[in-house]
Amino acid sequence: MENLDAIRQAAVLIREARKMVLISGAGLSVDSGVRDFRSSSGWWRNIDPRTVATVEALETNYDLFHDFYSMRINHLHSVVPHHGHHILAEWEGRGILTCIGTQNVDRLHQAAGSQNVHELHGTIRTFRCHSCGKPHSESAFLQKEKCACGGKLRPNVVLFGESLPSDAWNQTINAIQEADVVLVIGTSLQVAPVNQLPFLTSAPRIFINAEETGHEGQFDVFVKGSALTSLVAIHAYIDSDRSNESV
Ligand SMILES: [Zn+2]
Repeated sequence: MENLDAIRQAAVLIREARKMVLISGAGLSVDSGVRDFRSSSGWWRNIDPRTVATVEALETNYDLFHDFYSMRINHLHSVVPHHGHHILAEWEGRGILTCIGTQNVDRLHQAAGSQNVHELHGTIRTFRCHSCGKPHSESAFLQKEKCACGGKLRPNVVLFGESLPSDAWNQTINAIQEADVVLVIGTSLQVAPVNQLPFLTSAPRIFINAEETGHEGQFDVFVKGSALTSLVAIHAYIDSDRSNESV
């Protein structure tokens, strides 16, 4: 029972943590039914999203860009956080988890009650004019309205070719440098520069992922499993241990 051992080791580290930082990726949202458009099975119309989620597509192929994001936005209307998101919010409330740096643009962490969330890839829940930056509503985007300046509307996501939001990035780096545990959930760690974040500290590192990615050896604990089942198992272990101690 190799995985049970990993869950126990993760639980012991997390139970003792006071400044844990979480880096989360698409694999965390998958358990809420959010499709991972980066994975081969998640490709849309057989188009690689890396060719659509770009500044070039926005500027030169807006119909395709707009279709892609409209589909994703409409899909998210039926999506809610899962129990794993709520466990992470509870760990923040208990003073275990300091902050979350997330690659996810769906705001499910915030919907579950997490307060300190740095959106490293922006968010698909708010919108602006690509030309002048003026904020616009979701319905204006979905209806393909234009800004008064004539500019095209877009979600506040970070497109391929754009730099990460410096505030979210710097705050996540600072928190990791202070962290006593770094927890990474549901990311293949293939997208730079986010994939460098877990290695900015000598604190213990825990990796929860459904599949092996080749990075497991760089972590102290690797829990192979879905984010939801792994978090539920770790949380249950922490709480059963607490109740044993208080007897
Ligand atoms: Zn504008």
